[in-house]
Amino acid sequence: MCRHLAWLGEPRTVSSLVLEPELGLLRQSYQPRRQSHGLMNADGWGVGLLAPDRAEPVRWRSSRPLWSDASFASVAPVLSSGCVVAAVRSATPGMPTDESASAPFTDGRWLLSHNGRVDRAVLPSYAEAESVCDSAVLAAHVFAQGPDHLAKIVTEVARLDPVARLSLLLSDGERILATTWGDPLSYLVEPDGVVVASEPYDDDPRWVDVPDRHLLEATPDRVAVTALEER
Ligand code: GLN
Repeated sequence: MCRHLAWLGEPRTVSSLVLEPELGLLRQSYQPRRQSHGLMNADGWGVGLLAPDRAEPVRWRSSRPLWSDASFASVAPVLSSGCVVAAVRSATPGMPTDESASAPFTDGRWLLSHNGRVDRAVLPSYAEAESVCDSAVLAAHVFAQGPDHLAKIVTEVARLDPVARLSLLLSDGERILATTWGDPLSYLVEPDGVVVASEPYDDDPRWVDVPDRHLLEATPDRVAVTALEER
């Protein structure tokens, strides 16, 4: 995925997070501001959220451009959650372009999006991967090792594939975990929660940029950012 976003806090509508912000994922699907790999993100999109009384997340994904989906736009204002992970995709050459390759990927309560690329040959093969797409195999790897070990997983994969780009974004409804490794990330702490995104969705001066090669761990009222390579 080439641009992603997570929200953790009081319930917000999917529309208010993904479609309405002036510079949000909808705009980023055709005109990202901080993207150095690919010009637009028209190869699909996905939204995952945790819903009351459901143990596992629900997802709505597509292989089409986000701007072309009028049905999603009509329903998004009535979908709300305290935990949302969304992404728009620019497919890496050679990767499948069907819906199953669109993030977020899931395991239990976890939702995961990957911005970047990785040589699948350096990863074990996982029968449970949702797609043969590099991001889905990487997601299966993170889920198999355990997201608690995200820092170690990313530095180890980067050692095996030195040109990998490994910016990951995960949430399980309790916290957001994210890494920067080759692609940007910013966060915004609001009174009712925290947004973490590839790029700010508006010009609010409170957005904070995360430096490259860092790990972010956030709960609705606390964000910690630590260097990956010193760990
Ligand atoms: N490699 C992933 C894919 O093909 C992610 C691509 C990206 O971040 N642009 O979907």
